[in-house]
Amino acid sequence: AGKDENGDSIFGKIARKEMKVDLVYEDDKVMAFNDINPQAPVHILVIPKMRDGLTRLSKAENRHKEILGHLMWAVAEIVRQKDLGDFRLVVNNGPEACQSVYYLHLHILAKRQMKWPPA
Ligand code: 5GP
Repeated sequence: AGKDENGDSIFGKIARKEMKVDLVYEDDKVMAFNDINPQAPVHILVIPKMRDGLTRLSKAENRHKEILGHLMWAVAEIVRQKDLGDFRLVVNNGPEACQSVYYLHLHILAKRQMKWPPA
């Protein structure tokens, strides 16, 4: 747990609608928006509306099981709605994985040929 895991984060402001984003999907529990610095022709971030301690995936507890399932379901719904075809789903967990925003988010990357491993 770093300093960056305490206090607010930019995605908190987005979830509370204090900051404008290019919204792609929203329901009562999650929202999705275009990444400001896209790493593929389509780069969408999916976040829970409430962080509830989920600064990173490895903080997940029993009470988070439902929202984690909902986030994964939302990915499927978004790729269907937007007809994205094949895609890559990424979660960066911690500094060594290049996590920069300490509010759980799923990256959907689509519309280009991926390589494995990415880096
Ligand atoms: P991480 O590196 O934590 O896995 O991913 C954070 C992502 O959030 C990055 O891809 C970055 O471009 C994106 N990002 C950071 N700040 C903003 C913002 O204010 N708006 C949007 N739409 N994306 C952001």
